[in-house]
Amino acid sequence: MSFGPSSSSTLYKDMLEGKVAIVTGGASGIGESTARLFARHGAKVIIADIQDEMGQEVCREIVGDGGVASYVHCDVSSEADVQAAVETNVRSHGRLDVMFNNAGTAGEYRSHLGFDRSDFEKVFAVNVIGVFLGIKHAGRAMASTGRGSIINTASTVSVMAMRGLSPYGSSKHAVVGLTRDAAVELGHYGVRVNCVSPHLLASSMSRGSFGLDTRAVEEVTEKISVLRAAALKAQDIAEAVLYLASDESRYVNGHNLVVDGGYTTTNPSLG
Ligand code: NAD
Repeated sequence: MSFGPSSSSTLYKDMLEGKVAIVTGGASGIGESTARLFARHGAKVIIADIQDEMGQEVCREIVGDGGVASYVHCDVSSEADVQAAVETNVRSHGRLDVMFNNAGTAGEYRSHLGFDRSDFEKVFAVNVIGVFLGIKHAGRAMASTGRGSIINTASTVSVMAMRGLSPYGSSKHAVVGLTRDAAVELGHYGVRVNCVSPHLLASSMSRGSFGLDTRAVEEVTEKISVLRAAALKAQDIAEAVLYLASDESRYVNGHNLVVDGGYTTTNPSLG
């Protein structure tokens, strides 16, 4: 019995052909994987980050693999930077189809009672204001053309609390709220807004802020995944983001796509 093309990469090749995509936080981790995958699917990719050398190196590698990529220095907490990143690229490419607001910071790890106002301000400036600015400026560019897909990176801490991470956790709840608020408004202009919620995976964030090396992260995620599959990887998140970016998800709007192997749907008392 034949079911057509055997590999999904054959079936879904070039899902972003001819599209222009900005990836914030694209110099490493989830953003880097997503930028590479977008480029393999035919998108012109703009990496926007504050780690200039790393971002430029990722672009060089994408171009070396036959893709199209460029780099822009952009601190997502700065409205001038975000506006310039969007407007410059709309001017040079004539369009913006996908905005992946992915840049994030974890902040400090400590008791809720030990945090200061400044800890919240630092994390919210990037994770919440940065996402708001990305939605605002990409949304304006997209609304004028009547199409576009905006994806924001939240986290499983947007649906479950995690001890020691109050600023980060509450900022990711806010990302889900921003996503929904923007989705109901921008949907009227043909622009979809969704978010993705990864569970813990190995990246410079989990190494730096949580002090977990790759093996420690893998041990945690192998244990918790209902699928008992291999540890969650940045590539798994990139695949989910690709779906939300592409026209295959044309009727998905205001959704929080949780990528956690089923962990947050498990009733802890039943296992
Ligand atoms: P990462 O540290 O590898 O990547 C984060 C990127 O964001 C870096 O390239 C960094 O330079 C960039 N960045 C930070 N502040 C910025 C700013 N102000 N302006 C522009 N760029 C900035 O970490 P990651 O794990 O790939 O994180 C990506 C996103 O995924 C974040 O929003 C994070 O909160 C989220 N997330 C990560 C995990 C995890 O376990 N790693 C889990 C859930 C959600």
